[in-house]
Amino acid sequence: MCRQCDVTRFTRRGLFSLGLAATAAAVMPGPTWAQSTPSPVSPDEAIRRLQEGNARYSANTSTNKDFSAGRMARSSAQYPFASIVSCADSRVSPELAFDQGPGDLFVVRVAGNFVNEDGLASLEYGAVVLGSRLIMVLGHSDCGAVNSTIKAMSEGTTLPGHLPSLVNAIRPAVEAAQAKKAADLLREATAENVRRAVAYLQTAKPLISDLVNAGKLKVVGAVYNIDTGTVTTV
Ligand SMILES: [Zn+2]
Repeated sequence: MCRQCDVTRFTRRGLFSLGLAATAAAVMPGPTWAQSTPSPVSPDEAIRRLQEGNARYSANTSTNKDFSAGRMARSSAQYPFASIVSCADSRVSPELAFDQGPGDLFVVRVAGNFVNEDGLASLEYGAVVLGSRLIMVLGHSDCGAVNSTIKAMSEGTTLPGHLPSLVNAIRPAVEAAQAKKAADLLREATAENVRRAVAYLQTAKPLISDLVNAGKLKVVGAVYNIDTGTVTTV
């Protein structure tokens, strides 16, 4: 385990700076908590960096090409300025889409980019321990997980193996899109799936919601368009 991955070394003083000392005392008692990020990037600055990075990527003018730069500095610590919840789709790579280098993004990926308890715990780690001040839930066009859910629901079929767990997680978004009588069901279900994950995270107690309410963390939603490489907010 890397030194920074050990959550028991974080001091209470650092949590006071996040306004989370009381919460942390309740959920993780111990004398050794510390916020390790030297100078956290603000939520709005993080959004700006992602927007500018995606503009470079979609224009094929990416600047992050030397992945050995900073390798030694990253060997003992990481300070990602944003967390991304992305689909596992092979055509969607957040580091490429936002033109960021190693150590810049804390990425949680699962087919269908929904957030379950494991994903939430990872995002709590990214925010509280690593100091990320932005969470972006990133859906994408032509999402196979969302499309398969639509198909399974419309045909009344049950997918094999563990795939039904994906369907069950995405089903509420499809139902919401159907209730809106969306002309493009896949497009609207994809956007709704993102919006639902954003709403879930914004109210996820105790850690994420406390940071959001204190204005120290933003949760935003967006969709990556595979055909253009551009990211648009939803
Ligand atoms: Zn997908």
